[in-house]
Amino acid sequence: MIKTKGIVIGTQNKNKKEEIRKILNGLSLPLLDLEDFDNVPDIVEDGITFEENAAKKAQQLAMFCNTSVLADDSGLEVDALDKRPGVFSSRYCGENTGYEEKCLKLFEELAGVPLGKRTARFRCAIALAGPDKLHFVVEASCEGLIYTEPLGRKGFGYDPVFYIPKYRKTMAELGPEIKNRISHRALALKLFKERLENFIKGELH
Ligand code: IMP
Repeated sequence: MIKTKGIVIGTQNKNKKEEIRKILNGLSLPLLDLEDFDNVPDIVEDGITFEENAAKKAQQLAMFCNTSVLADDSGLEVDALDKRPGVFSSRYCGENTGYEEKCLKLFEELAGVPLGKRTARFRCAIALAGPDKLHFVVEASCEGLIYTEPLGRKGFGYDPVFYIPKYRKTMAELGPEIKNRISHRALALKLFKERLENFIKGELH
């Protein structure tokens, strides 16, 4: 059972925080902000899977905040690159490079690979932990292709190069209304919300 009056959203990323609040809106527990805690430690993301990183972040932050914490880890897997950059997505092409540069590096690595073989997916794992244990982890993905040029200005990260054949647009052309229905994070958050609602009721332990 959750022994808490609220759940801390364990991310400092504004885009993510907004998406999380929007989708989890209506929960019976309040969502708290990590910004309300001082001296939040940096958690080293050294897991080899998204699930491991999300679980580690949630557990360590829950110990620090002394209440339940939701934490996520996400990234881009490209099949032609043996699923790279994967858990290294934010560090791809160097930790301090911007996304324009990271996307150019992707194009460079995929030079000569036809669009149909540029299959890729965004993946997202979301974990819930309390101060003394991990409660659960859910995971979801969103399939697409790495396009041949960046298109659109509405997203962040790799959105301008992530093309979704069904819409014939990149994620950055689609905008938040559609993205918040189909994205890896939106789908994982929906699963998370269902699990959490059952968990709060005490049906799952
Ligand atoms: P993290 O989950 O904050 O560690 O982010 C992992 C990496 O994947 C970052 O480089 C993000 O920019 C990228 N990423 C995660 N979700 C998305 C998304 O929805 N759109 C674009 N890039 C994303």
